Amino acid sequence: MSRVLIIGAGGVGQVVTHKCAQVPEVFTDICLASRTVEKCEKIAAQIDRPIQTARVDADNVPELVALIQKFTPDLVINVALPYQDLHIMDACLETGVDYLDTANYEPPDEAKFCYQWQWDYHDRFKDRGIMALLGSGFDPGVTNVFCAWACKKHFDEISEIDIIDCNAGDHGQPFATNFNPEINIREVTAKGKYYDSGAWKETDPLSVSKEFDFPEGIGPKKIYLMYHEELESIVRHIPGVKKARFWMTFSDNYLKHLEVLENVGMTRIDPVMYEGKEIIPLKFLKALLPDPASLGPLTKGRTCIGCLIKGKKDGKDRQYYIYNICDHEKCYEEVRSQAISYTTGVPAMIGAMMMLTAKWRGKGVFNMEQFDPAPFMEKLNIHGLPWKEVFL
Ligand code: NDP
Repeated sequence: MSRVLIIGAGGVGQVVTHKCAQVPEVFTDICLASRTVEKCEKIAAQIDRPIQTARVDADNVPELVALIQKFTPDLVINVALPYQDLHIMDACLETGVDYLDTANYEPPDEAKFCYQWQWDYHDRFKDRGIMALLGSGFDPGVTNVFCAWACKKHFDEISEIDIIDCNAGDHGQPFATNFNPEINIREVTAKGKYYDSGAWKETDPLSVSKEFDFPEGIGPKKIYLMYHEELESIVRHIPGVKKARFWMTFSDNYLKHLEVLENVGMTRIDPVMYEGKEIIPLKFLKALLPDPASLGPLTKGRTCIGCLIKGKKDGKDRQYYIYNICDHEKCYEEVRSQAISYTTGVPAMIGAMMMLTAKWRGKGVFNMEQFDPAPFMEKLNIHGLPWKEVFL
């Protein structure tokens, strides 16, 4: 019996709302709020349970506080953009309500993401007696739980973690990103970074690549080293890790377009004067690109996201791979979204369920790998993201 306020009616917000609505025994009352209330109403109309809707500017803390006081949720699920994280956390502190998100804070004027800004809220959340769960999507999110599961069940010692994210789907568009274009392009054009023997090492954007053979017929694909936020928390919370890297696949077509856009300055995030007005090229580009939510009916193929882990068990070397495969068209049939939004929205719902059913509780700010992975792993199999593990 709990009330949940979902903020952000984008691709991920749509999936979280559908998935929470499928579990009425946990989520008894749902309110979906966003800057554009019509988007909330459109999603609510797809669901045959009453979903309340509201307009809110999540950068405006008093507006958020007023909405939280009016709806009185037990939990706020933030699936707006990373820029809103701290504002929503401030509103949760003021109202004494738990918080969950899927992406760590980013300042709008600097392409940098890091957990420290949110970890700095730990003592204030603890003193207020409330909980924040950070990064409850797929990566970050499920990948953190996969590492905690491997650590608990299959290894005495973990030395290396490679998180590998493959989207083997095709939306048929010349160029589109499968989640928020601004956040996606900021992430992909940033320098690569990985953890090795106690130090962080930087690489030029997309300059390190290799081939990985994906399971279940997806086959070999080129993967590129990138920095991703879960590396920061995994290295902090999984004991003994010496090397941690994140890899992602990109089609040649995506990379070709991205290179041209970068070369002509369209991915810049600093203001540029245009006809007497300041514009930010990347925000203008976002306005031109397909809305990721519109890719749902167009995308075919599968995603495969998993962790390749090396370490020791009973004194012997062990190599282990755990992954989920998700089919874009099946996701669309179920919740009218493609698999990228689906693989993020389902874990957000499960993380919320872990908190609301007291399987995962704590006072302060937490990452996913800090809790017992078992109940979360069980729910993944039930709610649409089954996983497989292999010993190599
Ligand atoms: P979208 O751009 O599709 O949706 C974001 C929504 O947030 C929009 O509907 C927008 O509202 C709303 N929003 C933006 N600013 C505000 C504001 N100031 N106040 C209220 N609402 C606001 O993005 P996605 O759904 O693709 O992504 C959502 C989040 O999920 C992002 O933070 C992204 O980084 C994260 N993500 C995490 C992944 C993971 O695996 N962990 C993977 C993919 C995404 P409106 O349209 O009404 O203006």
